[in-house]
Amino acid sequence: MRDVIEVLGIRATGFHGVFEHEKRDGQEFVVDVSLELDLGPAGESDDLAETVNYGEVGQLVVRRIEGEPFDLIERLATVIAEDVLATESGRLRLETVTVTVHKPSAPVGVPFGDVLVRVRRDRPLVPAVVALGANLGDRRATLERARQALAERVLTAGLAVSDLVETDPVGGPEQPDFLNAVAVGLTRLSPTALLRTLHEIEAESGRVREIRWGPRTLDLDLIQYGDPATGTDVLSSSERLTLPHPRAHERGFVLVPWLQADPDAVLRIDDRPQRVAELVAQVDTSGVRPVPEPLGPSSERSGGGAGC
Ligand code: ATP
Ligand code: MG
Ligand code: MG
Repeated sequence: MRDVIEVLGIRATGFHGVFEHEKRDGQEFVVDVSLELDLGPAGESDDLAETVNYGEVGQLVVRRIEGEPFDLIERLATVIAEDVLATESGRLRLETVTVTVHKPSAPVGVPFGDVLVRVRRDRPLVPAVVALGANLGDRRATLERARQALAERVLTAGLAVSDLVETDPVGGPEQPDFLNAVAVGLTRLSPTALLRTLHEIEAESGRVREIRWGPRTLDLDLIQYGDPATGTDVLSSSERLTLPHPRAHERGFVLVPWLQADPDAVLRIDDRPQRVAELVAQVDTSGVRPVPEPLGPSSERSGGGAGC
């Protein structure tokens, strides 16, 4: 990630240290925070909601410096990094956070300029669900390339891809049938970076956005990020990124392959986690037909037809 926000020299008095006098008298700690995230959306929109608020970061750093005393600044730096990653905007946008804690009055015992520790933390691996659809060109070949791109750039661990289904188009103008599949796996990308990467992969397939819900070589939608069963899913209501995907729960072409890729799948609907196995039983799946040959490294077959 090339874009960075830095907040440097945040100072406050804290009581961290292994010596009794440090816990009793306190001393000044100085913290630098460096945040790596895509600033493209905020650069375009001029909207605070599209970035990380550095004022909020400064406040949580001061709370930690002034809060529960730790023996080690290694620990202080680590909890600050975890706090920043766990903020709402952090969960949505941050790729990496680097925290430097300086302890300029540390009891070093010799003349010195500064003592510091620096920790760099990436996001943890998080489960994500991506729906794939194609109804123009060689649908199978496009979906196979998309599967490979997802494995290399998005769902880089634990990838499972459903079998293909052929589906009647839903909504939009008259258009060919779709081939659809669902991919589940673990990602290190933030939700916003993940969606950006999906758009890049769509563009590489020649996708152009002309008519909403019109025919397309490739559609990649982010259905869910995190796990609603454990309350770790990220929610977002912005138009640019809505999570969970607002129409997934009513779409047989998403629910049927998703259930096949993950029989334990859970989707949050109206704030309530619901089992996809139960949702499948409630939606119309008559326009969703199984396709015999699954995607896979050796799939070099004809596409035909057109359908998300
Ligand atoms: P649908 O979302 O109903 O399946 P679509 O896939 O045809 O429709 P697109 O043209 O691919 O729609 O995307 C339209 C916009 O939706 C994009 O600009 C994208 O930023 C936005 N969007 C919001 N939330 C999501 C999401 N969870 N997954 C993918 N795109 C999303
Ligand atoms: Mg889409
Ligand atoms: Mg779509």
